[in-house]
Amino acid sequence: MRRLIEGYRLFHQTYYQEHREMFDQLALGQAPKAMVISCCDSRVDPGLIFNAAPGEIFTLRNVANLVPPYSPDGNYHGTSAAIEFAVCSLNVEHIIVLGHARCGGITALLGAHEGDFIGPWMRMAEPARDAALAQVGDADHERLHRVCELESLKISLANLAEFPWVRERVAAGRLALHGWYFDIEKGELLTTGNGSGVFERVV
Ligand SMILES: [Zn+2]
Repeated sequence: MRRLIEGYRLFHQTYYQEHREMFDQLALGQAPKAMVISCCDSRVDPGLIFNAAPGEIFTLRNVANLVPPYSPDGNYHGTSAAIEFAVCSLNVEHIIVLGHARCGGITALLGAHEGDFIGPWMRMAEPARDAALAQVGDADHERLHRVCELESLKISLANLAEFPWVRERVAAGRLALHGWYFDIEKGELLTTGNGSGVFERVV
């Protein structure tokens, strides 16, 4: 804890003081152009890896960066609530679902992890596991893991596209959806930028 308070002290003495004008402006409101849906994983920090300033990206983090299906059933939908706010109130122009290598949520999906919440949460990505197994089998576990991470991104993007107010805005050209993948080990960024569903390295 001391390490974090010291970290805050340093932030306050340096970054905060050097950017007072920006923080004064941000205190009036936020107008991010992009939403990033990322994993909770402590190694994947969207603000850091995209070199984004406060106010630039509206970030949601959950286990394995999943977007659940649109299901307005009155239950507690933290992810869908954040997406609704970003799209309908902030009018973001881009939503990036950011996957990453070595994802623990995907490890849980490929294993037998259940738990009170993680098992049921990861169940929505089961078609990704099935698709990955069909593509590469289970002999090379590392490759299976990676393919499953990429397939799971596709499921999240497909689910996202089914939210009615997302669909409307995408059709009107006011919103674009993207699947990106951060390879922690190699430092590479893959995207589906060509719209084919094939991930290609951009950096
Ligand atoms: Zn993860």
